[in-house]
Amino acid sequence: MERHSSARPRIPLIAGNWKMYKTSAEGAAFIDDLAARVRGVTGRDIVVAPPFTGLAGAVRAAAGRGIQVAAQDVYWEDEGAFTGEVSPGMLTDLGVTCVIIGHSERRQIFGETDEDVRKKVHAALHHGLLPIMCVGETEAEREAGQTEEVLARQLAHGLVTLQSEDAGRMAVAYEPIWAIGTGKTATPEIAQQAIGFIRRQLAEGAGEAAAESVRILYGGSVRPDNIDELMAQPDIDGVLVGGASLKADSFARIVAFEAG
Ligand code: PEP
Repeated sequence: MERHSSARPRIPLIAGNWKMYKTSAEGAAFIDDLAARVRGVTGRDIVVAPPFTGLAGAVRAAAGRGIQVAAQDVYWEDEGAFTGEVSPGMLTDLGVTCVIIGHSERRQIFGETDEDVRKKVHAALHHGLLPIMCVGETEAEREAGQTEEVLARQLAHGLVTLQSEDAGRMAVAYEPIWAIGTGKTATPEIAQQAIGFIRRQLAEGAGEAAAESVRILYGGSVRPDNIDELMAQPDIDGVLVGGASLKADSFARIVAFEAG
């Protein structure tokens, strides 16, 4: 069955972040299953993000099936004495096309800073990788009324070197930390409000045209039963999905969202 989304200004992007789950063989088998389930679903970009060890197998499994492969992180240098790190060129060499940058788990568990995020976004763009830059507030920040301040700071730091012509080659993911892996999804209205704010910030920093071409995703407990109402919001251009991207049936339903 062919399913098209109606006149959206930006192609929806549905990305699954597998975090530290799935061996290479499990990832390839998942992609086989997913590809069969989403055959005929058009008008959206489908991305899966395995751990580093699963990237090569995922690229092989995804070839020719309309599924792209993302890394979950990248370092900004091209090469050198950086034990444990992976460069942008190493990713593109494998056929990886996107990279998640500044996920809240990287920021909170591994101490990544806004400056690290900026360097990674810049390096990814320079190497032709589509960065999916994550931003989002904690529960305490939301309760203290600081959501917009936090988002503005993360965007200003992360994108300070963004050229307006790069805007269409990147995505921002709004991931309120209180909604990640908690089952507490932001309401579509809260997600739209924050994402609308992000787009206005981008317009101020990089111009209207750039802001209109950046895809802004929502992430945080996205599931088959809430995807359609999220995707019905005018500024939500896609989703970054954790838990529900680990099972082919639930991720396929999210990919096949039905919203205007
Ligand atoms: C994520 O890790 O980016 C995420 C949104 O996770 P979950 O969907 O499980 O909340």
